[in-house]
Formats: sequence, C-alpha cells, structure tokens
Amino acid sequence: MRTTLLLLLACVLFVPGLVYGQAGEASAPGWGPLQLLEREVAPGQKRKFRYQHTQTFEGSFLDTVVFAARGTKPGPTLCLTALIHGDERNGFEIVRETFLRLDPASLSGTLIAVPAANANGFRTGSRYMPDRRDLNRAFPGKPGADNTSLIAHILYSALKEHCDALIDLHTGSFDRANLPQVRVDLANPQALDMARRFGAAVIVGGAGPSGSLRREMMDAGIPAIIYEAGLPLRFEPMEIREGVRGVRNVLIGQGMVAGQASAPTPGERIFSKTRWVRVPLGNGGVFYPVRKLGDNVRPGDSIARIFDPFTDEQFDVPSPLAGQIIGMAVPQVVFSGYALVHVASAPEGAR
Ligand SMILES: [Zn+2]
Repeated sequence: MRTTLLLLLACVLFVPGLVYGQAGEASAPGWGPLQLLEREVAPGQKRKFRYQHTQTFEGSFLDTVVFAARGTKPGPTLCLTALIHGDERNGFEIVRETFLRLDPASLSGTLIAVPAANANGFRTGSRYMPDRRDLNRAFPGKPGADNTSLIAHILYSALKEHCDALIDLHTGSFDRANLPQVRVDLANPQALDMARRFGAAVIVGGAGPSGSLRREMMDAGIPAIIYEAGLPLRFEPMEIREGVRGVRNVLIGQGMVAGQASAPTPGERIFSKTRWVRVPLGNGGVFYPVRKLGDNVRPGDSIARIFDPFTDEQFDVPSPLAGQIIGMAVPQVVFSGYALVHVASAPEGAR
C-alpha cells in the first residue's frame, strides 16, 4: 500500500510535461541546458511542466505550470508572470500565445514563464489566494510561514535566481477595465527602456506597492515592468494581441529574437501621475460611463453619470483634472467613494 502511494506521488510530482524541439542541436559552445526547478531544458528545446513544491491532503502549496524555452545561442533570460491575481486571465493567454510562437532554434537566451502563479485562483476565478490573501503583496515571502508567504517565497526565489528582466501581466481588478498600458519606475533607466521597447501607447510611472513582485524584483536589481490591460475574468482578444505584440517587441529589443519591433499607435505617452475619480458623497446609484477608455478629458468635463434609483435624479461627475482615461468601472451599482474613472495626468513628454 505504502509503495503504491509512493509510486503514485512520484508520478504526480514528476510528470514529464510537454517537450518541443530537438535537444542539443547546433547550440553555441559553452551554452548548456537550463536547470530550473529540478528540471532540465536543453538548448533548442521548449518545455511545459507542472511544478508542485509540496503537497498536503488539504491542498497543494504550489501546484502550477512552468513554460521554459532555451535558445540555441547565449543571451539574457526574460521572465513572464501572469495570474498573480488569479482572476486576471488575459495574461495567461499572452504567455501561452507567446510561447506557442517562440522557436527555440532561433532564440538567443531563455524565456521562462509562470502563466498561472495563483493557479487555484485561475481555476476558481478568485483574485486572492486560498487563504484570501493578495499574493502581490506577499513578495519576497518567506519559508516556513503561511501558505501565501511560502508560495511567494518559492516564486520569488526561482525568478530572482534566473531572470535578467521581468514582465508581469495584469488586468483591472474586479469590475474595472484598464486601457492597455505599461507601468514602470520612471527613475530606473533599464526598466524604462524595456517599457518603451514594449511599445504600449501609454506608460504610467510608479514604483508599485511594497510586496508586489515588480517592486521586489526591482529592489533586487532586476528590471521589471507590468502590462495592464482589460477586465478580469475574461479573455479579451485585443488586449491579448497587444500584450503578445509587446512581449515580442521586448524579445526583439533584448536581442533575443530577430525581427522588426512595432511602434505604438497613436504614439507613446508617458504619465507620471494618476488619480482615481470617485463617487461624490451622497451621490451613489446606478453608474453609466459617458467616456471611453483612452479619451482625453479637461477639468470640469463630465466623465461619469449616476442615476439615483429612488428619485430618478441624475448626477454628472466632473473630471477634476486634465488627462487621459486609463481605467474605468463597468456599469454597476456604486456607492459614495467608489473609484469610477482612473485619469493619468502630467505627461512627461509625448514622443
Ligand atoms: Zn493584478
């Protein structure tokens, strides 16, 4: 009985995964296989494998998939992470499509992706971890602690060991949508260079909150950016396409794949400040947007309309500042203080 259980456990822990490409074919001298999370990816190969750190009957601590492609020529390691918020699904498809199109035979360097960091959230549609904590506030994590801290520690340690640069993929939270945008610490030249190479029309400055993967990777000296696009709980073709294009642009920019990077349309804008416009005190009700994502607004312009369901009165919410709308709630019932429209302001230079 015990032997059977051990065999079963071994099968679960060491499923071979999917392997593409011919190992060891025409790889550069001195450029060997990638050793990653107890697996090996040979030059010219790409692999998808399950990774389970440890397991209990009540639930796996970390049960997710890892995608890794090892080029035939030396080069940097670009890492992609998605679904750190388990309901932000666009990122998963950006990773999957990027990996599908990547030919390791013509890759210089390595691509490592964790497309469903909060794998349980991916299955259940939950932003949070099973203990209801936010994984993106738990980095760098620590061993021997609670579930979320332990998973943060495993992911952070593996990424810090291998990555030369990181792109973390997100969407708006709950019932809010984001205009496709890249978020970056404008004070870091390497990260800003990667953000600009991504080719998004909107770049938003900021270091990110303490405990977020991007912030902690930056603090460890690894340039990191976030791509934010669309709504949670959806697979949105345009936002996914823009993300795949951006990641490819970064791969080209890092010299990892050959090709021509595409320029952003209608042109790049870099913003240093953003502000959420909220429902004024006492004006809750049924919210309908009167603007679209990407619209430019001036101070005093109406940017949201709310109907009082009892009196049928209508309230228009004015924009307090000039800028571009980069995030917005979807139509819903809203209460005083609810964040409706996210406006980016103070362009540092429209190039
Ligand atoms: Zn997120």
